[in-house]
Amino acid sequence: MRPNLLDPLFASLRALPGVGPKVEKLFGRLLGREDAPPRIIDLLFHLPTGTVDRRSQPKLRDVAPGTVVTVAVTIDRHRPSPPHRSRAPYQIYASDDTADIVLTYFHAKQDYLKKLFPVGELRYVSGTTALYDGTLQMVHPDRVVSAEDLDKLPMVEPVYPLTEDLSINQVRKATEAALTKLPMLPEWQDEAWLTRNQFLSWPEALNALHRPEEPTDVKPEGAAWSRLAYDELLAGQLALALVRAHQRRQPGRGSSGEGILRAKVIAALPYSLTPSQARAVDDIVADLAQPQRMVRLLQGDVGSGKTVVALLSAATVIEAGRQAALMAPTEILARQHFATIAPLAAAAGLRVAILTGRERGKERSDALDGLALGDIDLVVGTHALFQDEVAFRDLALAIVDEQHRFGVHQRLALARKGDAVDMLVLTATPIPRTLVLTYFGDMEISELREKPAGRLPIDTRAVPQGRINEVVDAVGRAIDKGQRVYWVCPLVEESETIDLAAAEDRFDDLKKHFGAKADLVHGRMKGSEKDRAMARFGSGETQLLVATTVIEVGVDVPAATVMVIEHAERFGLAQLHQLRGRIGRGRERSTCILLYRAPLGETAKARLAILRETEDGFRIAEEDLRLRGEGDLLGTRQSGVPGFRVARLEFHGKLLAPARDDAALTLSRDPELRSERGQALRHLLYLFERDEAIRLLRAG
Ligand code: ADP
Ligand code: MG
Repeated sequence: MRPNLLDPLFASLRALPGVGPKVEKLFGRLLGREDAPPRIIDLLFHLPTGTVDRRSQPKLRDVAPGTVVTVAVTIDRHRPSPPHRSRAPYQIYASDDTADIVLTYFHAKQDYLKKLFPVGELRYVSGTTALYDGTLQMVHPDRVVSAEDLDKLPMVEPVYPLTEDLSINQVRKATEAALTKLPMLPEWQDEAWLTRNQFLSWPEALNALHRPEEPTDVKPEGAAWSRLAYDELLAGQLALALVRAHQRRQPGRGSSGEGILRAKVIAALPYSLTPSQARAVDDIVADLAQPQRMVRLLQGDVGSGKTVVALLSAATVIEAGRQAALMAPTEILARQHFATIAPLAAAAGLRVAILTGRERGKERSDALDGLALGDIDLVVGTHALFQDEVAFRDLALAIVDEQHRFGVHQRLALARKGDAVDMLVLTATPIPRTLVLTYFGDMEISELREKPAGRLPIDTRAVPQGRINEVVDAVGRAIDKGQRVYWVCPLVEESETIDLAAAEDRFDDLKKHFGAKADLVHGRMKGSEKDRAMARFGSGETQLLVATTVIEVGVDVPAATVMVIEHAERFGLAQLHQLRGRIGRGRERSTCILLYRAPLGETAKARLAILRETEDGFRIAEEDLRLRGEGDLLGTRQSGVPGFRVARLEFHGKLLAPARDDAALTLSRDPELRSERGQALRHLLYLFERDEAIRLLRAG
């Protein structure tokens, strides 16, 4: 289905001279295509990280050692490695009218060098100079040409990320060859927009990046790279808009009512909703009443109160006589949600069940029967809800907590368990606006920006590991006052066993101080053991909980007021923020102690500083994006969210909004992409492999 015009770009790299099966494999590794053959387009999108600038052509007398230069020298004599000392370098003495230089080769073939440097002739030699024993040298010059070939010497050469066993020259050569395969494609960007941004055409942009004339040509923020980034962002936004339009065309079923059940739940709450909770509920209720399907993201920091919004949404469809499912990423979380929801639901007369991998036998078959018959209104569960045996009488609303741990496929699988299922996605990792647009452009968004009233700020401190004894004393004082303390041990080693050992050692240590008040919870424990440990901590039977990062997400013990995080420097910013969100949930003032091992690297230092400075998850997410790449932030690799090949949001993020507007406007005028630009845009979608969107287009 792909237009033939694009075939040369999707041809295998084997089509290039010098790329045989072995080299192809190396390129596969380099280009992230180990499972499928790497293609010309993959290589063209493998962009330089910088350049080597050979334009400086000083006289030898003026050469600054350590710099890259191109010098015009006469070859004076060869000094081969002495016989029997082949490890000694082969040296070529050369000069101009101002000074001498020695060109040095190790393990070189004599014949080759004799040909390359004929005595008495002029050669242009380019490379990095050094001063060695008071003599100017160049070890392994990068380029050597004769006077006639000077115009073939690239004065500015791109530098690429490499992989083991693949040389820069192999990559350059293959890329050069790939550039000769560029087809003439119709321009898919708006001419006026290109001119306004001084963007190059697509082939010009690729040429500028791979055959730079100035080092600035390969800068990510430059005109060439930005053009390609905008292409990619536009393709992404177009695809999302097409998916969304498709979803909209799928008829939904309006679920509305008078809000009696919602009112009952609200009456049972020991608090009143925050303004943003109320707004989110209004948005959701309005969406649910519409005959189109809802796909909405509810973003809110840890502790911002998403669960109750979810419950009120569920109550809305239940009042319409239908069912809802709430899916959490872990067993602990599912139980926690269930525990929170059950009493409120009971007060409103809702029938709730839990279904995880742990329910077996009668409990499980009761839940399954209840769902199939409609005796259960709301089910809270884990991945177990995907299983084939799980059938609903009439599932209306799927609520997915902690979205990024589930892939899009799973989201859709849950939606298929009902007829025109509305979707509410909850995420506790506030996502920077730029990324929301990118990954969730197909969703409406509600944000819970304020914390429930009465929360006190958390006192966050960074303390060097050497002062751990003081920290233990402080923990002791908190315990004496009846407070609850988390002690988090990080994932340090690759091996879970070693990590666990570290946590167990710490637990043994702390037990000496706190005896039976201390407890341990980790990822290797059975679900029921974990639950029991959490329950003991929640009830106050234990007061100090040593944990590996299993407590990261969503566990709610309002009496917990102290958190110690060991090796805080090894955690990511978002993760530290998530962890810290476990405290500061009650009425007592909370303290978070970030134990770090000195010396701190720059990034680690910045992370800890940001955490001390703010608790605003949205701000932290922006900083996190700044400190590391966007892919990492969402855990793209695990979740299957497509990352970018060309665009880098720290440079091109500001192009996202125009790309979205461009996509929206284009599709409003030309929903089928049939106009001249529309046809060209189809090429763009294929180029970035958004073929799926095109299929939706065809399906109508
Ligand atoms: P999230 O899932 O967003 O991290 P939760 O839904 O677990 O947050 O809520 C955190 C805590 O805040 C819970 O103990 C909940 O009962 C409480 N809470 C929720 N909304 C409010 C509110 N409007 N006022 C006071 N407390 C609230
Ligand atoms: Mg939650």
